[in-house]
Order: sequence, then C-alpha cells, then structure tokens
Amino acid sequence: MRLERPGRAESAPLVLVEVPEPEPGPGEVAIAVEACGVCRTDLHLAEGEVSAPLPRILGHQVAGRISAVGDGVTGHAVGDAVGAGWMAFVDGSCRWCVSGRENLCPAARYTGRDRDGGFAETTTARAEWVFPLPAGVSAMEAAPLLCAGVIGYRALRLSGVESGGRLGFFGFGASAHLAIQIARHRGCEVYAFTRGESGRRLALEMGAKWAGGADDDPGVALDAAVTFAPAGELVPAALARLAPGGTVAINAIHMSAIPSIPYERIYGERVVRSVQNSTRRDALELLELAREIPIRAEVAPYPLEEANAALRDVASGHVRGAAVLRVR
Ligand SMILES: [Zn+2]
Ligand SMILES: [Zn+2]
Repeated sequence: MRLERPGRAESAPLVLVEVPEPEPGPGEVAIAVEACGVCRTDLHLAEGEVSAPLPRILGHQVAGRISAVGDGVTGHAVGDAVGAGWMAFVDGSCRWCVSGRENLCPAARYTGRDRDGGFAETTTARAEWVFPLPAGVSAMEAAPLLCAGVIGYRALRLSGVESGGRLGFFGFGASAHLAIQIARHRGCEVYAFTRGESGRRLALEMGAKWAGGADDDPGVALDAAVTFAPAGELVPAALARLAPGGTVAINAIHMSAIPSIPYERIYGERVVRSVQNSTRRDALELLELAREIPIRAEVAPYPLEEANAALRDVASGHVRGAAVLRVR
C-alpha cells in the first residue's frame, strides 16, 4: 500500500501496487511482514504534514520474521521473529550519536519515510535497527510496541515522573494505552484527559485513577504530564494542572501551534519539552518491559489492503487502542 501523492485520509491516498520483492543490501535484513502498526505519523505523512520522498511505502511498526540476510550481518538469522521501528539509520559519529542521543542525529533516516516500510508483504531494514520480539507475543500485538510503545516509554522517562507519582495523559490513543501499563507497573496514578467517551472508558479499564476532558479539573496537581494528541492547546491545559517543578513532555512529531500563555503558567520551574524519535536503548528496554510486565496491546485489526480505512480511523480518533494491519 504505497503513498503516491499526499491527500486527506478520506481520499484514500495509499494505492495497492505490485512491486519487485525487495532484496537486503549489505548490512540489511529482509523481513516477511506479518503485521504493521498504523501510527499517527503515518497519517501525517499520508496527509503531507510530514514530508517524504515519493512514492513511498509507509509503516514503521513492523513485526515479522527474517526472510533473508544481507552480506556482513551477524546476530540475525532467517526465521527470527523481529521488529523494526521508525529509526532506520544514524551516522554513529556526530556529537549526538557519540553522547547517547542518537535519536537527535541530523543524518538520521526513518522507516516508511526515507526508505520503504511495512505496509507491504516484505520490507528491508538495517540489521542494527532490527530487534528481537518478546517470546509469546503475537506479531499483531508486538507491532504497536515498536513506535507507540517505544516513544511512549521515552516520553514517560523524559516527563521525569517517579514511581508512585501523579501523571497526566493528554489524549488516550495507541501510545498512551501502552504507556499507562508501564506507569501503573511503577505505581503511578494516571489521570487521562481525553475527548472521546471510548478513550475515557479504555483509560479507566486500564487502571486510570480519573478520566475527563482536557479542561476538566481532576482535583489534584500533577507531578508530570505527557501530551499524546497533536493539539497545541493541550500544552497550556497540561501546564494548568502541573505542580511546581513538573514537566510536560510532548509526544508528537507534528503539533498545531501552541497558544501563548501567561508566564505564571510556566513559572515555578515547570518544564515543557518535546520528545523526538528514540534510541536503540529505548527500544530494547521497552521490549524487555513488555515481556516482564507484560504489556498487552489492545489491537484494532485491518487487512493490509484496508490501510486507508485504518488511516481514516486514526484521523477521526475511532480506534480503541492501536490500529494494526494484518499482512499474513
Ligand atoms: Zn549522528
Ligand atoms: Zn510512529
């Protein structure tokens, strides 16, 4: 399902095409895709809010089995259950890479943007960005871990919330419904601020202490907050609930403009920070946590050829948990 030209999700911008089977180059593996998650970033790419060289096969939450191994690859074998996420390449030599911040590498390339991704029967990926999947987790359940899970995990970390702390989630979609499982595992109280009734219900079912709208008052001050929906007005809404010294971590690759705020909203050493991409360490730690807790994804399945319907449902917020394409 390839993006030929960006357009609104309702206009079905992905097109079913036959392409030659991709072969792994040196340092790469081929993955027989079993499932691929549909991320909000795929929607931003399809609608042109995030640009990509075209045509491009989107999809960066790939779960499947290695079907071929390129020259020079060690540590991966045909048949291994693996996943690949948004990060596809870093140079390994810039000042961010050498200081443990490869997620900020200016030379980074991204799956389903700079190279073809997982809305396909086969894809290829650089071996160092391919991760073993937790045993006993199906490909459909593992796929959302690879971006929604990893970035939610990183956002939790950057929010600075401590075990037992009060944490606000603004928006409750694919990433939040995975992150709440980590937060609950750490004894955090989670307050879910989200528009839709179904998102609130899901949050409460998953152990949220409270669920309401973005401007509702849960009656307590939050130690930290993570915004998951790409709406700039959530940043002042989150700041309004934040205790002094707290952080709002913005989990978004693209967001509408953040409205101006009175200085008092951020005074008290409150911090607003974005979350960009993830490191290999984030991915390995999250996959380990997924096995240990265990994290269970609530999956809305779609056949591969219904990828446009999945994008539409992500756009309208009509997905309970994570949208995932079933490929084989
Ligand atoms: Zn770098
Ligand atoms: Zn993503």
